[in-house]
Amino acid sequence: MELIHTVAWMKQVAAEARQSDRPLGLVPTMGALHEGHLSLVREAKKQCSPVVVSIFVNPKQFGPSEDFQKYPRTIEADRAALENLGVDYVFAPPAEEIYPPGFRTSVTVEGLSDPLEGRSRPGHFRGVTTVVLKLFEIVQPRFAFFGRKDAQQARIIRQMAADLDLGAEIAVCPIVREPDGLALSSRNAYLSASDRRAATALSRSLDALRREISAGDRDVVHLLATMRQIIETEPGVSLDYAEIVDADTLEPVMALRKTCYALLAARVGSTRLIDNALIEPAGESVNVTV
Ligand code: AMP
Repeated sequence: MELIHTVAWMKQVAAEARQSDRPLGLVPTMGALHEGHLSLVREAKKQCSPVVVSIFVNPKQFGPSEDFQKYPRTIEADRAALENLGVDYVFAPPAEEIYPPGFRTSVTVEGLSDPLEGRSRPGHFRGVTTVVLKLFEIVQPRFAFFGRKDAQQARIIRQMAADLDLGAEIAVCPIVREPDGLALSSRNAYLSASDRRAATALSRSLDALRREISAGDRDVVHLLATMRQIIETEPGVSLDYAEIVDADTLEPVMALRKTCYALLAARVGSTRLIDNALIEPAGESVNVTV
């Protein structure tokens, strides 16, 4: 496994690697890797060779009062985990490589970036799409792997890849969870013992949604009330939003007719967590994947 720190070297290595018979796969991350990230890498390894994993804590996707400074950085452990999985290249540039002095350009996917996470974190998705576009230009992957944990992000990146003819196919992988249901996140490291217990309110809320839907409830207003109630009654947890939206447009739905997401964001102590369930109508029944 080769560890690469500069854009020029990454471009050169990727250009050579694209000559391989198999497609090049990219897994963008901010490091502090956990099983969620590693599941993307395993999927990439199945479909692609070589596999490039980027590790970059992107300052542009953090708001001024967010956790950029304290975001966990565990490069040595990350490196060992990726080596173990047979990753070919790790691209871990310093911030000045990606944003040299005078950097002025950004890319925005209009509309899809505004609601939900976009409303709570102004500028967040502009930061995400700008860095992902740069990574795609540098590495030029045939496939790029993202987690459904960040469902809105994956939807926005798929739109950007299509709109800008980036030639990368976007694979969206399932959410990896702790045994008690909490979605794995690098930010779970911030949770105190009592926060950690309270944090299961998010996945419990989605489990309740799944149970209600499988019992035949199709009333979106009622389903949302059930979800909200579970979060709002958990001490130490404050709900940011709970929405059921069309998976394509990310607009709120009044009925479960097309594929949708139930999306949640909540603050647990001082840690902001997100989670979601995928809702897929199939004839008379509706499948819910948490
Ligand atoms: P991050 O390092 O938080 O930017 O995440 C990098 C990628 O890992 C993103 O595509 C995330 O959606 C994905 N990811 C993060 N947590 C999980 C999880 N629990 N399960 C699956 N994918 C995840």
